[in-house]
Amino acid sequence: MDRRSFLKVGGGLIFLAACRNSTPQKEWEKSRKIPIFVDSNRKVGHQVRTAISLPVSSTETIDTLIVGGGIAGLAAACSLPSDNYVVCELDTNFGGTSGAISINNQLYSQGAHYDLAYPNHYGKDGLELLQKLNIIDFNAKSKLWEFKDKEYLIPAGLEEACYYNGNKRESVLENTELRQNFVALLKEYEGQFTLPSTLISKELHHLDQLTFYDYLNKYLPIDDKFMESIDYQMLDDWGGTSTQVSALAGIHYYKSRPYYDGKEIELLSPPQGNFYFIQKMMQQLNPNQLKSNHLVFGLIKEKDHWLVDVYDNENSTRKQYKANQVIYAGQKHALKYIHPESYASFSDIQYAPWVVMNIEMEECSLKDSKWQNDFLSPDNTFLGFVDSTIQTKNQPRVLTAYFCFPEVHHYQIENLEEDANELVEETIEKISQYYDENIRPFVKQVHIKLMGHAMPIPSPNYITKERTLVKDGLAFAGVDSGRFPLMFDAMDSGIQAAKALFDE
Ligand SMILES: Cc1cc2nc3c(=O)[nH]c(=O)nc-3n(C[C@H](O)[C@H](O)[C@H](O)COP(=O)(O)OP(=O)(O)OC[C@H]3O[C@@H](n4cnc5c(N)ncnc54)[C@H](O)[C@@H]3O)c2cc1C
Repeated sequence: MDRRSFLKVGGGLIFLAACRNSTPQKEWEKSRKIPIFVDSNRKVGHQVRTAISLPVSSTETIDTLIVGGGIAGLAAACSLPSDNYVVCELDTNFGGTSGAISINNQLYSQGAHYDLAYPNHYGKDGLELLQKLNIIDFNAKSKLWEFKDKEYLIPAGLEEACYYNGNKRESVLENTELRQNFVALLKEYEGQFTLPSTLISKELHHLDQLTFYDYLNKYLPIDDKFMESIDYQMLDDWGGTSTQVSALAGIHYYKSRPYYDGKEIELLSPPQGNFYFIQKMMQQLNPNQLKSNHLVFGLIKEKDHWLVDVYDNENSTRKQYKANQVIYAGQKHALKYIHPESYASFSDIQYAPWVVMNIEMEECSLKDSKWQNDFLSPDNTFLGFVDSTIQTKNQPRVLTAYFCFPEVHHYQIENLEEDANELVEETIEKISQYYDENIRPFVKQVHIKLMGHAMPIPSPNYITKERTLVKDGLAFAGVDSGRFPLMFDAMDSGIQAAKALFDE
């Protein structure tokens, strides 16, 4: 999750002594049941069956209908030339994988939670939208587009700590000779990797034909320990290990920003995470046109318009919109049901399921940690946690844990809907190991967000595959339209979908 300290070579890494006598939990403590709240939108999706049999309660004619209220859908709405649009979001809240939860009137991230200042060679359209949203300014000295709201920057030195099989160390990749060779190997790509991914030069596209593992294995004497750290970082950002993601994605992770010249790059992480960007976009839009609890379950092309079938989950009614144009910024795997004709363009996409766990703490004297606390252990589904005290002094303190499951383990996510107790207990134990202190007595309650199709894995050929992204007034946006699972790519996909429709 934090790339910023990756290339701070030199300065010597500090290894903190291994001192792992995690306090055994007393039985009476374990018997206190921790309240757990699980949020999953899978069940809303399944309401389609009910919706189909309902009579249509209303029909409205509009210019553009946008499916999905994540970063991509809202960026599309911000980029439309006409005000005559509606955004349908199936969830009660907007945000998608950049969503947030309100605890004690303070918002906490439930997904994407940071971004870094943007180099000047990033795409003009995205940078312009971020300026329009009053989020960034150009700093001529650093030559970076930096964030205006400085209170949300994570102070240098507090960004990251890493727990590795019982030891603490400064960063995920150890400062070994192999790492230095790795840094030297990637040097030729300096300044060449940009965002959005559509602007990556064709000369680099051959890197999308092989896995990151094969690329590294070709040029470096890699060993298991080195690859364990690389795999952790790949899972953390791309949802797949080095044997799953392309060399293009792997190298992009390390070279998409100027980490290499020792520059401090601003890292923005408000307590609400990237829901901050969602809020900024929603402030630009008319709230009456943003429809939450609205599940789009059918798209039919009629003569000169699209007939869009929508289930209003709050009122249990079925509505229809006649729209001149549609921007589909929802997950593409559902096209199988919603618009099967378009599914072929996206059928290759593999999705990584993610789980986010917000652990709400009682006031306690738990030691300080860093903003992001990476956790490497034989259980590679648990990636670590973010400590809200670095972001805000507001109570309650919330430790937000992140899990990425292998694609084939979707059923594990479904099981969590019924019983998440074991995962919660295991997580509390791991975080207790991290603090070297039993945190369980201070855990007030736990909120879990399950995201079955959270993130497209940028496997070989994913980025460079030809896809039909606009046809007959229907345009596709979202990270899973052949983009990297990153805020900037999601946002750009929305902007380009809006533009494509009006250029069509
Ligand atoms: C755990 C996690 C952490 C991440 N961390 C970062 C990070 O720190 N920084 C970063 O840059 N990126 C991060 N990402 C990547 C993140 O996915 C993108 O940054 C971005 O949020 C994706 O936005 P999107 O609009 O493309 O997709 P989504 O966020 O998936 O939005 C799609 C929306 O469409 C809605 N929808 C789907 N189908 C329908 C339908 N039929 N009808 C109505 N609505 C529908 C969904 O409910 C959802 O709200 C993270 C992703 C995950 C999963």
